Amino acid sequence: MCGIAGYASGNHVDLTSAIDVLLSLLVELQHRGQEATGIVLLTKNGEFRQLHARSLVSNLLFKTDVIREKSEEVFAVLGHVRYSTTGGYWDSVVQPIIVGDDDFKVALAFNGTIPNHKRVMEQVCGIECHGKNVKSDTESLALSLYHVAREFKKDVVEGLKELSRYIIGGYSVLVATSEPRIIIARDPWGFRPLAYALEGDELYIASETGALTTLGITNWREVEPGEIISYDGKSIERTSFPVKREPAPCIFEYVYFSRPDSVFNGISVYNARYRMGEILGREFPVEGDIVVPVPDSARIAALGYSRATGIPIAEALIANKYIGRVFINPPITRLKLAVLKYGVVQDIVAGKRVVLIDDSIVRGTTMKYLISKIRKSGARKIHVRISSPPFKCPCFMGIDVASRLELAVWRARGIDDIRREIGADSLNYNTLDGLVKAVGLSRVCHACFSCSYPFNGVTMEELEEMVRR
Ligand code: SF4
Repeated sequence: MCGIAGYASGNHVDLTSAIDVLLSLLVELQHRGQEATGIVLLTKNGEFRQLHARSLVSNLLFKTDVIREKSEEVFAVLGHVRYSTTGGYWDSVVQPIIVGDDDFKVALAFNGTIPNHKRVMEQVCGIECHGKNVKSDTESLALSLYHVAREFKKDVVEGLKELSRYIIGGYSVLVATSEPRIIIARDPWGFRPLAYALEGDELYIASETGALTTLGITNWREVEPGEIISYDGKSIERTSFPVKREPAPCIFEYVYFSRPDSVFNGISVYNARYRMGEILGREFPVEGDIVVPVPDSARIAALGYSRATGIPIAEALIANKYIGRVFINPPITRLKLAVLKYGVVQDIVAGKRVVLIDDSIVRGTTMKYLISKIRKSGARKIHVRISSPPFKCPCFMGIDVASRLELAVWRARGIDDIRREIGADSLNYNTLDGLVKAVGLSRVCHACFSCSYPFNGVTMEELEEMVRR
């Protein structure tokens, strides 16, 4: 998943103010990545400085004193919050990544996953990159882009266009070059979100519109699928990738990833989530006393479910804010965090028939522990309703589920088996039709629910093979 953010200005910019803007944007994108935070500063002379910290944005805050003391004129700052989907966890490749030499450098922050990244690098970079032991798709992408851009007289826009002919996968990117120039792009399928706003000569960039509006920036625009935007401090230039694809924005952004105050492809995430709950309530009602959302991402769907069924909503689960999002944590910590994350308000659930609403069951880790806690707190019945369909197939475009065996559906022999495993009295999921209707876009990626990948006949087995290489 990951979050990317940036700020650039054609005028004199106070270094401290630029870093403050960037860190504010990154904090607002923290829900997209919790493993590492990185920033890169690009001076007006085309020099790069880099800082990173393990874990949250707040861990980087104090480190920035080192660069704040310098009195350089800054053109742009780029930042990234990491959620690893390829490479190792925590500290393997911290972004933005910088590649190049004294003559020409490229800094790149990236959101998505490119399953065929090694093949792409071999195809475009050949002997120069042969034998390079890359740790992730980010590294391959940065090296490939640097190599191709150099062939196009250091033109990164042309480099991105050329790379799009080879890449299979999702990539929203933020690139800075030593010209200095800043470039943002969304892959031709438009899997991941990316937005920007130009205010005077100041350019603000964020993975999600919600991060921009939180800073009071309301005149944002989403980067279109397949669009490349370049800014040199004077003017914006827009162009498109030469390859045309059917748009396939990620439907899971509406279900779970994105903030509810964000807009993705012109659709409010809040409204889409509310409609998911309403449809779920109409299709799978049940006799219950209270609707209880699993905070935070199921809250809005629970409102919709409550509205559709007339069952009152109650906030009976209290999430520990300091733990963050369990789903996007590395596997080694996921189980421990799932056990610790939620407390139950016993007075609310004791003796009640609880309708528990969650956005998804991916691995089933969290749900099992939750149900056991709610039952121990005295609930009479626990009916589980999920606002998305069963998560059936791995994602190769930005979620860390690279193996079918990780998924609850593949371990079970049907929905009733999952119900038994998690310990619920009943279990229903939204249908794929219901989910697509709730979002309201004619074309989306829903491969994790349908196993149908939007890559012109490329199968799941072939994608798995690309990842293994
Ligand atoms: S497979 Fe699922 S999570 Fe991955 S991009 Fe498609 S809809 Fe999103």
